[in-house]
Amino acid sequence: MKKISLVVPCYNEEESIPLFYRTVSKVIDSMNTPTPTVTPEYIFVDDGSDDRTLEEMKALHQQFSETVHYRSFSRNFGKESALAAGLQATTGDVVAVMDVDLQDPPELLPKMFTLIEQDGYDCVGTIQKERRGQSRIRAFLSSSFYRVINWLSDVRIEPNARDYRLMTRQFVNTVLSLPEFNRFSKGIFSWVGFKTTYLTYESQPRAAGKTHWNLRQLFSYSIEGIIDFSSAPLRLATWVGGISFVLSLIGMIFVFVRALTVGGAVAGWPSLVVILLLIGGIQLFCLGILGQYINKIYLETKHRPKFIIREEK
Ligand code: UDP
Ligand code: MG
Repeated sequence: MKKISLVVPCYNEEESIPLFYRTVSKVIDSMNTPTPTVTPEYIFVDDGSDDRTLEEMKALHQQFSETVHYRSFSRNFGKESALAAGLQATTGDVVAVMDVDLQDPPELLPKMFTLIEQDGYDCVGTIQKERRGQSRIRAFLSSSFYRVINWLSDVRIEPNARDYRLMTRQFVNTVLSLPEFNRFSKGIFSWVGFKTTYLTYESQPRAAGKTHWNLRQLFSYSIEGIIDFSSAPLRLATWVGGISFVLSLIGMIFVFVRALTVGGAVAGWPSLVVILLLIGGIQLFCLGILGQYINKIYLETKHRPKFIIREEK
C-alpha cells in the first residue's frame, strides 16, 4: 500500500471543492480495485479565500477526518505559496499537485502512478494541448513567453506544462529544501532535475467558478519567472551600455577630427537633444533591470515566511 498525497490550492472555490472530492475519490477507488494499492491523503490549502471555501474544507474534514486535511492562510498569498504550504504538510510516498477546478483531469493519476512505480520516474508532469477557445493573442503571448524564457534561462521550462504533476517523496523533499522566498515553481521543478516525463492531455473547461488570472497578471508573472531563473537581462544591460559607450567614443573622435580640419558645426542641436534623450533612456532602462534584481534580493534578505497559517487540521 502506497500513500498518495494530493495538494490542492484553493482561492474562492466553494463550488469546486465538493465536486473535486467526489471526482477524485472515484478515481482513487478505481485504483484500488481489484487490489488495494493506494491510500489517499488530501491537503487542501485555503489561500485566504473570502467565500465559503474554508467551511467546505472543514465539512469534508469532519466527514473524512483520517484522509482530508486543510491549512488556511491569514490572507491571500498566491498559488505559489499555497503549493509550498501544501507540499510541506504531505506525508505520502508520492505527492500530486492539482487544481481544484478539475482542469487537471484526475483520470491521469493511475497512469502517472504507474510511470513512477513501475517505470522508475521521479516526476510525471502534464502538458496541456492548445487551449480551445483561447484567444489568438493569448496563445501567441504564451508561446512567446516560453520561447524567451527558454532562450534566456539555464533550466529548460516545458512549454504549456501545467503545475499538475505527481512526484516521489525524494523529489518533493528536494523541492522543499530550496529556501527561496520568490518561488517560480515552473522553474524550481525543472531546476531540481531528476527523471521527469510528461503526459499530454486536451484542455478542460473549469468545473465551476472562474479563473483568477488576467492578462496583466500573466505578464508580470512571466517577467518574475525570467528574473528568478536568468541573469540574461543583466547581461543585456551591460551590452547595451557597452555598445553605446563604444559608439559615443567613435562619435567623439569624429567630432574632434572634424573640428581640427573643417571647423566646428553650430547647427544640429536637435540631433544633440535626440542623442541625449536616447542615452538617458538607455541608462534608465538598465537601472530598471538592475532595480528588478535588487528588489528580489531585498525580498529574499527579509527572510519573511512564504505564508502565514491561521488554522489547520
Ligand atoms: N489559486 C490559489 N491562489 C490564488 C489564485 C489561484 O490558490 O491566488 C488556485 C485556484 O483556486 C486553483 C488554481 O490555483 O485551484 C489555479 O487557478 P486558476 O484556475 O484560476 O488558474 P488557471 O487554471 O486559469 O490557470
Ligand atoms: Mg483553472
